[in-house]
Amino acid sequence: MSILESYQRIRSEIPSNVKIIAAAKTRTVEEVKELIDAGITDIGENYVQEAEEMIRLLGPETAKKVNWHMIGHLQKNKINKAIPIFDTIQTVDSLTLAQDIDERVEKTGKKYLSILLEINIGSEFSKDGIMPDEHIDFEDFMEKLVIDVARLTHIHLNGLMTMGPRFDDPEKPRPFFRRTKKLFDRLKKLQLERVDMQYLSMGMSNSYHVAIEEGANLVRIGTAIFGARDKQ
Ligand SMILES: *Cc1c(COP(=O)(O)O)cnc(C)c1O
Repeated sequence: MSILESYQRIRSEIPSNVKIIAAAKTRTVEEVKELIDAGITDIGENYVQEAEEMIRLLGPETAKKVNWHMIGHLQKNKINKAIPIFDTIQTVDSLTLAQDIDERVEKTGKKYLSILLEINIGSEFSKDGIMPDEHIDFEDFMEKLVIDVARLTHIHLNGLMTMGPRFDDPEKPRPFFRRTKKLFDRLKKLQLERVDMQYLSMGMSNSYHVAIEEGANLVRIGTAIFGARDKQ
């Protein structure tokens, strides 16, 4: 199946309120261009430098047709470069990182940057994100964190992102997605300035069906659109 066909098939089988983010790592500019022409609205990149290169190769006219999401871990020394490139940083996993972003957004003169908080819902040491197991009452901890982030005037908090543990069986991540959704719903109830919990980013090629059933409205898909990645 072509990239266009794969995208259109997935688009037609999921609810219209769910946004697809094409995870573009290792893909060529031609592949990404094909997808933008097919009408995709959101692209995810794992590295600031690769995003920069992709946008340069696409050209400003094409690049600005879509929203750019940082879905890889953001290193402190890349924040300045990331600010003009990305519409949303999905991978903020500490108050310190949020503060660093806030401070730098202010300096660039940009009004604000949209972020999601990344939850490492399986508390896996191999992954980034805030780990439930590191907090006695995780939900309380998250509520406090959201209140602290809300004080940062150059950040808008727009939701949560999680990877969740990877299984071959697509049913296995369900309880992890469910727990993330429960947290999301609780945080949504906080009425805070600059906080609008509208996005729950979870689900990838092998898990997006289940993630959507559990409440995801952003899914990050690579392989199921572009085909298998070359091993690197
Ligand atoms: C690569 C990647 C995806 C997509 O993975 P696929 O299995 O190829 O769909 C989603 N989210 C993140 C953070 C990724 O790095």
